[in-house]
Amino acid sequence: MGMLFLICLEGSIYSCKHCYTHLGLADDIISKSFHCRHGKAYLFNKVVNITVGEKEERMMMTGMHTVVDIFCVGCGSIVGWKYEAAQEKAQKYKEGKFILERYPVTVALVEVKLFTVLKKVLDEQV
Ligand SMILES: [Zn+2]
Repeated sequence: MGMLFLICLEGSIYSCKHCYTHLGLADDIISKSFHCRHGKAYLFNKVVNITVGEKEERMMMTGMHTVVDIFCVGCGSIVGWKYEAAQEKAQKYKEGKFILERYPVTVALVEVKLFTVLKKVLDEQV
């Protein structure tokens, strides 16, 4: 696995469920009233440590949108999607914004701390 340059966020953090890579800040949440196939999802003004997939047209409850799936750079898991364009005028505010699915991103801060400690212990053993 290559060297990864990860951005570390401070504050109330949303991390990848699988590898604890930081993805977004609670301060950057625009709306918590979104839904995805796993349940609730949050709309973020910005996210970090992600890569994007191919553009595609997707029909949603609020109309047709051009979206790209977003993936965690740490483990490659799909963590949500980004709105590239919205056809409906009322949905234009979502353009350039990100959806993080709550199911894979919510992790207690204590778990992140534990993981950091464990990783340090493992690193020292090598
Ligand atoms: Zn991950």
